[in-house]
Amino acid sequence: MSRLLLLLALFSSTITTYSQDYRWQQRVQYAMNVQLDVKSHHVTGTQKLVYTNNSPDTLREVYYHLFFNAFQPGSMMDIRSRTIADPDRRIADRILHLNEQEIGYQHILTLTQDGADVSYSVDQTVLKVTLAKPILPKKSATFLMKFESQVPLQIRRSGRDNREGVAYSMTQWYPKMAEYDFQGWHADQYVAREFHGVWGDFDVTLTLDPTFTVAATGDLQNPDVIGHGYERTGAKIQAPAGDLTWHFVAKNVIDFAWAADPDYVHDHAQVPDGPMLHFFYKRSGKSTDNWSKMQDYAVKTFQYLNLHFGKYPFDTYSIIQGGDGGMEYPMCTLILGESQLPGLVGVMQHEVAHSWFQMALASNESLQAWMDEGFADFASSEAAASISHQEHPHDGSYASYFALVKSGLQEPANQHSDHFSTNRAYSTAAYSMGAIFLEQLKYIVGTEHFDKGMLLYYNTWRMRHPEPNDFVRVMEKVSGLQLHWYLRYWIYTTKHIDYSISSIVDREGGTQVTLERLGDFPMPIDLLATYTDGTKELFYIPLNELLGKKPIDDPTIARTDLPEWYWVNPIYSFKINRPAANIKSLEIDPSQRMADINRKNNVITLP
Ligand SMILES: [Zn+2]
Repeated sequence: MSRLLLLLALFSSTITTYSQDYRWQQRVQYAMNVQLDVKSHHVTGTQKLVYTNNSPDTLREVYYHLFFNAFQPGSMMDIRSRTIADPDRRIADRILHLNEQEIGYQHILTLTQDGADVSYSVDQTVLKVTLAKPILPKKSATFLMKFESQVPLQIRRSGRDNREGVAYSMTQWYPKMAEYDFQGWHADQYVAREFHGVWGDFDVTLTLDPTFTVAATGDLQNPDVIGHGYERTGAKIQAPAGDLTWHFVAKNVIDFAWAADPDYVHDHAQVPDGPMLHFFYKRSGKSTDNWSKMQDYAVKTFQYLNLHFGKYPFDTYSIIQGGDGGMEYPMCTLILGESQLPGLVGVMQHEVAHSWFQMALASNESLQAWMDEGFADFASSEAAASISHQEHPHDGSYASYFALVKSGLQEPANQHSDHFSTNRAYSTAAYSMGAIFLEQLKYIVGTEHFDKGMLLYYNTWRMRHPEPNDFVRVMEKVSGLQLHWYLRYWIYTTKHIDYSISSIVDREGGTQVTLERLGDFPMPIDLLATYTDGTKELFYIPLNELLGKKPIDDPTIARTDLPEWYWVNPIYSFKINRPAANIKSLEIDPSQRMADINRKNNVITLP
């Protein structure tokens, strides 16, 4: 038994335990045999899907996603892309102008459940199946499907012939069972973003023209038969006659993606004490040098994330040129390849971080994009800053949040990703506010508890579907502080933080300082006093909601703990035991981790 198999065995037993003891989750086992005709761009496939109902509910129907159907004029994706206030330029009206040979579709040819025919209906990208026989709690059913698809011209994420000439970006490409959980079915139409998946195993054969190299989720099972691609770094090897079948197996993942191109170069790099990294990029591309230079960054990124966010759970990962930006999939990513080196590295680091925050901690991306995009953004920014020896990795996130607040377009972050009124409000909520959620949490609970909490979160919830409250509970247990209020204010509302120093008055040999909460969002306060003799003193005012205090972060500065600030009070006064003449300046949150929308009134410098 290899180390990987051992790990996988451990994970699957963990899942069984969790699903019985705490929160159940469904399970899928796919076996797919797929042929791709590279002339007509048609896919024909058979899919055997063993579906295990771990829920306490009797299921009378199931739902599949048929994502390729989104790439047809008049689809919900088409309409939304043309009518939203700030269209995504990658899509805009491109779907509307697809011809019959360029659209995508997925046709179900036959479908049975345990050998019996089922009735089904297709509504755009959702297939509803009325079961021949209900699936009882703790029981499995086997679905056999034959399907036929046309790979669309690449518009968004998946498709053929992307703008850098990658032949096939095969993502969201097969009839995929929707997730059913304690909230019910997540059979959303494919409108824009994002994804959710059922945990399970994939055994996939892909048969196509032998001149193509395939990159995919999972481990290649037949490198000897393939004879090229996986150990190839140099010149192109003579392709065998007839189609070639690539066989991949991936265990304990939520999806399966692949890409194919006749022009791919394949490099690899080993992460010490980590996975083997594979790189697939076009030999004829504009930036092949950048792909070589990126490899060292990729290794270092995995090392950083392994250390700070938990150990990457698989033994391979592929970075593949394809798609239309960067998109994360289990054990691989598809990214555009012709950007400048910093852009290429930045996208790679972000997508790699999703291996933690989506491919292991599989939150529902559609409902909680901030836990996926925001946490990935946070982790990759920390990794990038550490690797390049830079400071303030999250400045960009704060800047985009403040700009959104100013624009008046902000919406609560806990919305379904497709239902934000603007793409801008979505992306700032998901990426920037998700990252700030963590950086600001570090301010609230202290660095030591935060770092421990991130590791405990991963180790507690990997290979499951954590919810916002699950994350907060981990942080509460590690820090001993109550944090529900923070989740509710930051994610469920658009309330803002704004504190000010309103007065400094000499009183009885000391100085009375009065602070004011101008925003509706209460926070604990760090206030730094710098004295005229050059010494500093940090005053810490816990918020009553915390039911406790954070530990001292910086032992080089003396900290004075003050009584808690009740959140209902707009005003808070305390006394510094020195005359005002001895005070040089006072500053609220000198670390600037608190997302205070007006920092001008946070500082007072005395004359
Ligand atoms: Zn992302």
